[in-house]
Amino acid sequence: MNEVEQQFASDNYAGICPDAWAAMDEANRGHATAYGADQWTAKASDAFRDLFETRCEIFFAFNGTAANSLVLASLCQSYHSVICSDSAHIETDECGAPEFFSNGSKLLLAPSTNGKLTAGAIRSIATKRSDIHFPKPRVVSITQPTEMGEVYTVDEIRAISEVCRELGLRLHMDGARFANACASLDCSPAEMTWQAGVDVLCFGGTKNGMAFGEAVIFFDSSLAADFDYRCKQAGQLASKMRFLAAPWVRMLGNGSWLRNAAHANACARRFAEAAAHVPRVHLISKVEANAVFLKMPESMMEELRSRGWVFYTFIGGGARFMFAWDSLPVRINALVEDLKDLGRSVV
Ligand SMILES: *Cc1c(COP(=O)(O)O)cnc(C)c1O
Repeated sequence: MNEVEQQFASDNYAGICPDAWAAMDEANRGHATAYGADQWTAKASDAFRDLFETRCEIFFAFNGTAANSLVLASLCQSYHSVICSDSAHIETDECGAPEFFSNGSKLLLAPSTNGKLTAGAIRSIATKRSDIHFPKPRVVSITQPTEMGEVYTVDEIRAISEVCRELGLRLHMDGARFANACASLDCSPAEMTWQAGVDVLCFGGTKNGMAFGEAVIFFDSSLAADFDYRCKQAGQLASKMRFLAAPWVRMLGNGSWLRNAAHANACARRFAEAAAHVPRVHLISKVEANAVFLKMPESMMEELRSRGWVFYTFIGGGARFMFAWDSLPVRINALVEDLKDLGRSVV
């Protein structure tokens, strides 16, 4: 057995949720047509069209790096550029895949403390240069919720898309935790995306409780031209596509996508409220999704680690704790108790 006690280092430490697992089991009862020409893929695409209340083009990729990179590659020529926050996953955690798949489109970074881009920052980056020597801005990419666990309001997204439209830029949303944003904001998936001016959304399934799989949703069908070829060429066309698609059919159908995310968000809030009362521990960012970032003395972090807790500090300048669909109250309490204990004792 190599089972580990539940940790909050990453929401990807969690396993597959019962609904995703059951859906794969159901899809496993016999043969089906390969490469996405099966009934689950068709049903999953329809489920997305129902959820977003619009006609849209849907594709399934194995992971978020591929989904984001291939979308950006399809929106850009090699001489184009993509405006994003300096903490965007596409910049910090995709090993140059967006530049690789786009044959060199450059990422233009806006400094940010909470991972958010603003309309003003986009305007200043996009209008700074317009000469032929500089890569031409073509796309804006925002992460919803951000890598720091904050959520763009619908008004903030609208303000961004207005600048995009004015300057001829396309708007991409990295929604690796899109479900958490939906659970956090009191608005529909449609209001947060195409109705607010988002052109393409990468909707994460993995962090929502699936084994793997992200859906790419083009709200402007003309942008989806040949995207299937791009996926195939990049090794992202699943021959047994039904196993990527079936979990979406069930989870969008019965609402567990939103319940999973709401649970994770609630766990983060509950942990943050308790942690904020511990001496010498401070919240670094707002807790609006399933992430909690804490600033505390080095010695406290060391002690936490020596008590067996695993967490990362390479994002956001603090200790990051992520909560998942299966986060257990008893483990959250145990972490809080250790923090309180160290808050009292460690110098
Ligand atoms: C997890 C994550 C992704 C996807 O990462 P993969 O490991 O490629 O699946 C993309 N964007 C953000 C913000 C993420 O947190």
